[in-house]
Amino acid sequence: MLSYTDARAIVIARTSENHRNLVTHSKYVADALGDVLAQEVRCDRDYPPFDRSTRDGYAVRASDAIAGAKLKCIGEIKAGDSVTQPLVPGTCIQIMTGAAVPAGADSVVMIEFTERAGDSVTFQRETAAGQNIVQKGSEARAGDLALPPGLRLGYAELALGAQVGAAQILCARRPRVAILSTGDEVVSIVETPGPFHIRNSNSVSLCAQVRLAGGEPVPLGNALDRVDDLSAKIELGLKEDILVLSGGVSMGKYDLVETVLKSLGAEFYFDAVAIRPGKPAVFGRCRDTFVFGLPGNPVSTMVTFQLFVIPAIDVLGGARPRQLPLLEANLCKTLHEKAGLTHFLPGRFEWTGISPEVHPLTWQGSGDIAALTHANCFIVVPADRQNIPAGEKVSVLPRLDVI
Ligand code: AMP
Ligand code: MG
Repeated sequence: MLSYTDARAIVIARTSENHRNLVTHSKYVADALGDVLAQEVRCDRDYPPFDRSTRDGYAVRASDAIAGAKLKCIGEIKAGDSVTQPLVPGTCIQIMTGAAVPAGADSVVMIEFTERAGDSVTFQRETAAGQNIVQKGSEARAGDLALPPGLRLGYAELALGAQVGAAQILCARRPRVAILSTGDEVVSIVETPGPFHIRNSNSVSLCAQVRLAGGEPVPLGNALDRVDDLSAKIELGLKEDILVLSGGVSMGKYDLVETVLKSLGAEFYFDAVAIRPGKPAVFGRCRDTFVFGLPGNPVSTMVTFQLFVIPAIDVLGGARPRQLPLLEANLCKTLHEKAGLTHFLPGRFEWTGISPEVHPLTWQGSGDIAALTHANCFIVVPADRQNIPAGEKVSVLPRLDVI
């Protein structure tokens, strides 16, 4: 059976074969959080654009400001002032953080290391040339590539775009991800469930996960475990870039998702992965739409979405597929799991001050959404390990939204 890493590689390879042109649109940079950049952004000028003081203090020639030296202060430069007054040797100029260092000065001495009486400043310790100054162009040069196409825009990337004057940027259209849950027992969250019904929580978690991942969710509600209803609703999903189904992919008599997809022309690239939860996950293509059939147990749906659907959203959205953000932590409690499948167990990742630790949480298996609300990660137990003693280092997959 496929490992989850091989299954991810298949998703990336298959979605990368998709040669549709990327649709782009112009966006105000401040509204583009989580979008994928579809153009180059270059620096409009050097950064910093001038030699910038990083401290409040005095601009000096380092060779003048030896310990105990007294220098006459001949002026003041605030952030935003255009500097005209050069530093005369043997003097100093008061300067603020963010102001341009005057010609003739090669160091800024923090105000904390000086004493002032009238216009005379005493320097308490020596300084070195270059101290507390960021040289013009040392961060980036005019014309340098600031942001490459294909980059997913987080707050730092948006800030860099803003800094270089890219107020409007071309972004890729977010992939549209249809979400269809299945099951005769599943009712809408605004209905009162009968005694053996359950509310459709998967549609809610999947929409949230799509949004977090940078896709545009298209909720299609729930299909009954019947060929006609499934076919009709899957047809709606096939209008989108990706269709994610939950439930109906296991071995049960009424698990009809694969059969119906096949009858609509789907080809499958995998139909099982060696993981728990999530083993029956399927991935394929039906006409122009990539299709994921995720097992319906809520935690299985969440884990398989994070492992397999996110890379598809990346690639179809014009981004480089992000890596799994695996961390390492000391296991706090011995684990016993069956070998043969990679297990993803709810855990609480904590940084205690010395090294990161992860606490396995008790749970009732992959239907236990409540346990997940106490977890901020999944502990990854490799397929070839049955017992992992407390104290050993383990891999940890953070939940996308809480770490
Ligand atoms: P299935 O994968 O269809 O066999 O479903 C496995 C388990 O997940 C069953 O206990 C279902 O009731 C539950 N389940 C299926 N779909 C949903 C859903 N949309 N929301 C919450 N639980 C679900
Ligand atoms: Mg079902």
